[in-house]
Amino acid sequence: MYPVLKTDLKKIRENVSIIAKKCGEKDIDIMCVTKAFCADPKVAQAVIDGGATMLADSRVQNLMKLKDLNAKKVLIRIPMMSEVENLVKYADLSFNSELKTIKAIDEAAKALGKVHDILLMVDLGDLREGVLPKDVNATIEEIFKLENVNLYGLGVNLTCYGGIIPSTTNLGQLVEIAADVEKTFDMKLQMVSGGNSSSYYLVENGQMPAGVTNLRPGEVYLLGRETAYGNAVEGLHEDCFTLQGQIVELKEKDSMPKGEIGMDAFGNVPTFEDKGKMLRAIVAIGQQDVRPGDLAPRDQKTDILGASSDHLIIDITHSDKTYQVGDVVEFDVEYGSLLMLATSEYVTKVSE
Ligand SMILES: *Cc1c(COP(=O)(O)O)cnc(C)c1O
Repeated sequence: MYPVLKTDLKKIRENVSIIAKKCGEKDIDIMCVTKAFCADPKVAQAVIDGGATMLADSRVQNLMKLKDLNAKKVLIRIPMMSEVENLVKYADLSFNSELKTIKAIDEAAKALGKVHDILLMVDLGDLREGVLPKDVNATIEEIFKLENVNLYGLGVNLTCYGGIIPSTTNLGQLVEIAADVEKTFDMKLQMVSGGNSSSYYLVENGQMPAGVTNLRPGEVYLLGRETAYGNAVEGLHEDCFTLQGQIVELKEKDSMPKGEIGMDAFGNVPTFEDKGKMLRAIVAIGQQDVRPGDLAPRDQKTDILGASSDHLIIDITHSDKTYQVGDVVEFDVEYGSLLMLATSEYVTKVSE
């Protein structure tokens, strides 16, 4: 039953393989982030087949789905106090920034007879998660007092809240902080994680500071695009995912609504351009499943006019194809829509 979110596993595999190889040449290993497709194990297996040895997700529930797959599991959202027990059970490594939570992880690990690896996040200006650089050493001193957590490395996240672009300056700072930690505490960090898909361009242009040993690609292997500048990456597939929806109504109607214009389904007052009569198709998908602005029809001669909760309206006037009720139309998805489609129980997931 439609709508269907189709995943091309071969394309996913090829994308991961290209990124893993490029990063490997720079001594950078990768953990592939699975949250955008809700860690569907079939897709995650394709990621492993492409050469990823680590899978990362922001939700412990998603890591649980991956428990039988042969890869190291990483929780990349700062854990909730309420999930530390499952965290220790289902993740091999987690990203942290709060001593109170790290102590709770230590307790949970002790109770389970385990030692849990943690990566301390450092905030280098994006203002999402991470301890400030001045607090790194004091935090690590406290971590070293705990017996059941092991400081595995340092990491940074950029271009998520503040939109800060990774650079030789801020990633250079991360490498300097890591070197300082190693010297101060006479130890070796096993991982210096230099960011997400927005850091990938530095690998491509050869400017990634030496000392960054890990990246966490998500969007770049899923949609074939780096996210610092939004450029397509040469050689990567951009169409690993396809949304299919079915036409439920097809009629010639006006382009201007008739009557007094009040609010649309979401409380906004809409505006319209009079383009005369048009051939309009309603596809049975809506704002509950996708963000219409984050979709692009594969038939480039059609245009998305808008959507309410469950109806997506498309202008098919200028298409070369003759559509009929019951026909299936296809769309490319952007990151925001991929997240929503993967999450929605109304969308059938097909991967092959
Ligand atoms: C979501 C996320 C990623 C992956 O981000 P992309 O932009 O999809 O590459 C990496 N690291 C962290 C901490 C994340 O939350």
